Amino acid sequence: MEDKKEIKCKCPYCDASIEEKESPICQVCKIRIIRCVECGNLVSSNIEKCPKCGAQV
Ligand SMILES: [Zn+2]
Ligand SMILES: [Zn+2]
Repeated sequence: MEDKKEIKCKCPYCDASIEEKESPICQVCKIRIIRCVECGNLVSSNIEKCPKCGAQV
């Protein structure tokens, strides 16, 4: 049987898997990742707009 790895989110910049916590941080990019409330896209916390849907994040 395969282990079920709970990869809940990936860094949108380097594709590293990130454990979903209150403040997920990509250990590779050293950036904080947030989830867009509109589309659920994962974006860096230092941008102002979601690149996918344009909503403010
Ligand atoms: Zn990353
Ligand atoms: Zn979005």
